[in-house]
Amino acid sequence: VTILAIESSCDETAAAVVRNGREVLSNVIYSQIALHTVYGGVVPEIASRKHIEKVIQVIDQALVDANMKLQDMDAIAVTYGPGLVGALLVGVSAAKSISFATGIPLVGVHHIEGHISANYIENKELEPPFVCLVVSGGHSHLVVVKDYGEYEILGRTRDDAAGEAFDKVARAIGLGYPGGPKIDKVAKQGNPEAIHFPRAKVAQAEYDFSFSGLKSAVLNYLNSCEMKGETVDQADVAASFQKAVVDVLVDHSMEALRKCGYKKFAIAGGVASNSALRAAFEEACTKENIEFYHPSPIYCTDNAAMIGAAGYYEFLKGVRSGYDLNAVPGLKLGER
Ligand code: ATP
Ligand code: MG
Ligand code: FE
Repeated sequence: VTILAIESSCDETAAAVVRNGREVLSNVIYSQIALHTVYGGVVPEIASRKHIEKVIQVIDQALVDANMKLQDMDAIAVTYGPGLVGALLVGVSAAKSISFATGIPLVGVHHIEGHISANYIENKELEPPFVCLVVSGGHSHLVVVKDYGEYEILGRTRDDAAGEAFDKVARAIGLGYPGGPKIDKVAKQGNPEAIHFPRAKVAQAEYDFSFSGLKSAVLNYLNSCEMKGETVDQADVAASFQKAVVDVLVDHSMEALRKCGYKKFAIAGGVASNSALRAAFEEACTKENIEFYHPSPIYCTDNAAMIGAAGYYEFLKGVRSGYDLNAVPGLKLGER
């Protein structure tokens, strides 16, 4: 089964050709990051317009790179939520038009299911059930992947997503957008024990996360330094903040693995490319005899190959979308 996948939920216009859910024949990503950097974050209206300009070009390139034609595709998979409504609509409209014109079946895919499925691409032996930590720009979920497309959510963030916290703290310490990769880099020069930031627990919900208190603690620290006329060590703040996030993510995930008894663990989403997070999980999983999986960085942040991976398993189950498929900005995991 060969799938053309399209992704446009945020600020990446992406298309890929994926065979049998795990073999990537092409993976084209046009990132708009440079366009949004001057504004310090993604501007939805600008993102939508750029998607419109790029979407056909990116799809054509994906077919060229795979050395295939539209007629060779068995299905078209497209992200229909969650994400920015105007951005999602571009990919959805393109996919529907191509499907209508060619008769190739259409499969709507959940963006977060895509992030999780990114793990299948390079780990050919990975099969459910397993526990997955999804840490992206807009989501922080700890889930059990019970079967392909079947999820049980153990915990989620109560406020900011992990990636959002990285982006906000980066802005506060003057690193700019997108903050995650910049904090990751700068933190290597800092001392993670230099400043103690809080590790939040949510009462009565042991697997839930909360990152807004941590973000406030960083801001308070910066303010107090300014008041006292002390200079801020950017690298120390970055390293200490990053350590606080990593500690909580590792702590909750390992607790879930212990309690639920699963021996396989995966991470997904943009923050999953964080080097400190990977190293910490590498160590914790080795210690507890748990198989640890993670996608390469290019499959952690937004891409269409992951949508092709998720779309394949939906396609096998017989899922087909109609031409009334619409963008659903607030789509929940496990919902259709
Ligand atoms: P969502 O998937 O929840 O809709 P999104 O698509 O915007 O949100 P992703 O593309 O999965 O999010 O990831 C982007 C996020 O990942 C950003 O917040 C970015 O700062 C963060 N990120 C990327 N690389 C790193 C890194 N090395 N360390 C920490 N965070 C990172
Ligand atoms: Mg993005
Ligand atoms: Fe994403």
